[in-house]
Amino acid sequence: MRTVVFWFRNDLRLHDQPALQAALTGGATHLLPVVCQPPADEVTPWGFARVGPHRQAFVAAALRDLGARMAALGNPLQVCHAAPATALPALARAVGAATVVCEDIAAPYEQAEVAALRAAGLQVHTVWHSSLLQPADMPWPVAELPAVFTPFRQAVERADIAPPAPLPPPVSLLPPPLVSSDVWEALGAMPAWAEQGAAATDNLAGRDPRSSFPYGTPACDGSETLALAHLVQYLARKLAHSYKATRNGLTGLDYSSKFSPWLATGALSPRKIHADLKTFERDHGANDGIYWLWFELLWRDYFRLLHLQYGMALYRARGLSALPVAPHNVQGFERWCQGRTGEPLVDAAMRELASTGYLSNRLRQVAASYLIHDLHGDWRAGAAWFESQLVDYDVYSNQGNWLYIAGRGTDPRGGRRFNPIKQAQDHDADGSYRRMWGTA
Ligand code: FAD
Repeated sequence: MRTVVFWFRNDLRLHDQPALQAALTGGATHLLPVVCQPPADEVTPWGFARVGPHRQAFVAAALRDLGARMAALGNPLQVCHAAPATALPALARAVGAATVVCEDIAAPYEQAEVAALRAAGLQVHTVWHSSLLQPADMPWPVAELPAVFTPFRQAVERADIAPPAPLPPPVSLLPPPLVSSDVWEALGAMPAWAEQGAAATDNLAGRDPRSSFPYGTPACDGSETLALAHLVQYLARKLAHSYKATRNGLTGLDYSSKFSPWLATGALSPRKIHADLKTFERDHGANDGIYWLWFELLWRDYFRLLHLQYGMALYRARGLSALPVAPHNVQGFERWCQGRTGEPLVDAAMRELASTGYLSNRLRQVAASYLIHDLHGDWRAGAAWFESQLVDYDVYSNQGNWLYIAGRGTDPRGGRRFNPIKQAQDHDADGSYRRMWGTA
């Protein structure tokens, strides 16, 4: 008997799962699938919860669905309420396993988790599978990535690079090894199908009629099952065709794709989105809406590649730039978090974020710019607040966008300042958004 431990990270799905496939086909006879959930009271260096109640509830729904799907294949998923460095070596010892297989995540916190497992004597086989395009298929080695997005995109398009076709879900899993209940108990483990997360706040956003992504409702549940159904309905209603015209909206489910929450947990694979968009294009014709979705998914890849290129340097206060670092405006930051800066559009956005866990791309830009360029708050505190609040928090996209607006990434233009008054005139001319959040 040879057991391999499979550690689900930000890839809570069975479709298009190259890491799981590697675990299933690597010669093991048994598979021990686990998830490690951070303790609910873990705080950021800025003094608030790293994972707020919105994301806890959304992830719990993803785990329940994944647990049920795996149980149906004969290998129920367990959720350990312990750090991976505690849970995985203990489980590996209990079942005599030497190897852990998991998703490769090129961000410092996540890499430290893997390093801790290796230091504990485990072999860790990581598989990169969160991007649309494979880094190895790029026209350059990762160290020579263009510093600006546009030449990156143009070169990718010229080279006509296509993503790998998505893998089908496995039809069977290897059987689980026997693990004594004492071991599970010591790790605070429970079957994934029973995971509650922040049970008291489940449906929090679903109960707020103002939410643009009412997670917890039947249309926006965090599961892989719903993620795939969401993609089907999005294309069946031909919303991809109107995406370019509507994507700067501020309210409602349909102005943008809302793929991001499921992409962030991994319940939906970007390659699955791309393959279905291609089929849609074949059946219903190409247009600039579909092209723009590709364009945005390329931004998502670009921020992933930046992490492969620069790693820890993206997390310095100065980022990649040599710009001086001003002291953090602590009080301004607190007012910003609470939606009490006195700037109506920014305050409305920050209230929406805290109440629902979701915010349009337009208002993420406006709010981030205001913290950095008007309040002179530390961009890393803003990024940490978004991490805490966003239901679709994605380490690469969040860090990359904050760096970009702060002018501390690769872009040479020195940051983006959005004038909130002009933004309100352009995108909330009748004031309805600000009235909805009580700031006008
Ligand atoms: P759509 O407009 O429908 O776009 C389709 C997909 O393209 C998205 O699901 C997303 O995967 C990708 N995409 C779109 N815009 C961007 C972008 N600017 N950067 C990277 N990928 C993009 N996105 C996250 O997924 N997680 C984050 O933590 C996150 N933090 C952000 C922080 C700031 C300060 C800013 C300005 C943007 C951030 N974004 C983040 C990017 C973007 O706002 C969201 O991806 C988008 O609003 C999600 O809604 P949607 O799925 O309807 O997007």
